Amino acid sequence: KSSISPLRKINSVINSYALARQKEIDTLQKNAEFRREFIADISHELKTPIFATQGYIHTLLDGAMDDKQVRMKFLKRAAKSLDSLDILVQDLLTLNQMESGVIKFHFSDFDLKEIIEEVIDELEHKASKRKVKINFKYDPEKSFITHADRQKIYRVCQNLIFNAVKYNHDEGEVKINLKAQKNHIQVEIKDDGQGIPPEDLKRIFERFYRVEKSRNKKEGGTGLGLAIVKHILEGHKSKISVSSTVGKGSIFSFSLPLSKSANQEEITKTDSS
Ligand code: ADP
Repeated sequence: KSSISPLRKINSVINSYALARQKEIDTLQKNAEFRREFIADISHELKTPIFATQGYIHTLLDGAMDDKQVRMKFLKRAAKSLDSLDILVQDLLTLNQMESGVIKFHFSDFDLKEIIEEVIDELEHKASKRKVKINFKYDPEKSFITHADRQKIYRVCQNLIFNAVKYNHDEGEVKINLKAQKNHIQVEIKDDGQGIPPEDLKRIFERFYRVEKSRNKKEGGTGLGLAIVKHILEGHKSKISVSSTVGKGSIFSFSLPLSKSANQEEITKTDSS
């Protein structure tokens, strides 16, 4: 009788050990699978600009060099392909640093309104293919001073606003709203463009995920923008939300904390007036 119990004990120890080992093996397999997929994705993305640049240079070497006009055209195209390769590598490095947690955040007080105006300026200076009207609305009486990483939040606004223009139709409209709430500032970027199907909506924040790959390829971009946005906001303990209707458009929104010191100044100002 007494020998059953120790045997059971040994059995249960062996079982739990086997279970733990299996879990370890599963995690390792998942990691290996993730790495394999990541390398396949990267190689695929790198191939496009590399092949294009190779093509232009070989055509030049094969004789296109002799005609000045053709030469300029091909050199410009090769330069453009190298630029997109550079952006892709930079985005990959940023994302990699964010995923491994080595990237540092530098917090300071700044005006969110200014950031959005700078992005709109940048967009107007870039010769955009789309003639999209940008409507930026905020309450001039309110303060929009947040405490966050200025450079990274610029990147968030840039990615979201550029996408709202890129995935819009000609003569479309982008509405940007800033709302100051009790402790937060709510940023909303609304477009009346193509919209995103529900099955893609939950996946657009994954690296390299694109809705309708061929159509989006024409628009340019690395497919990493929204993954970067998500990580930056996570670093601010914030989240990006999206709602979208195909054919009608999308709304991307996030919130950032209202700066405590700016909030205090505002209160003192109202007190003394
Ligand atoms: P990309 O470099 O391809 O623009 P992103 O990570 O910024 O990559 O976006 C991922 C995908 O999500 C895009 O390829 C596009 O299909 C979709 N998307 C993003 N923003 C919008 C938008 N405002 N309207 C419609 N589709 C969008």
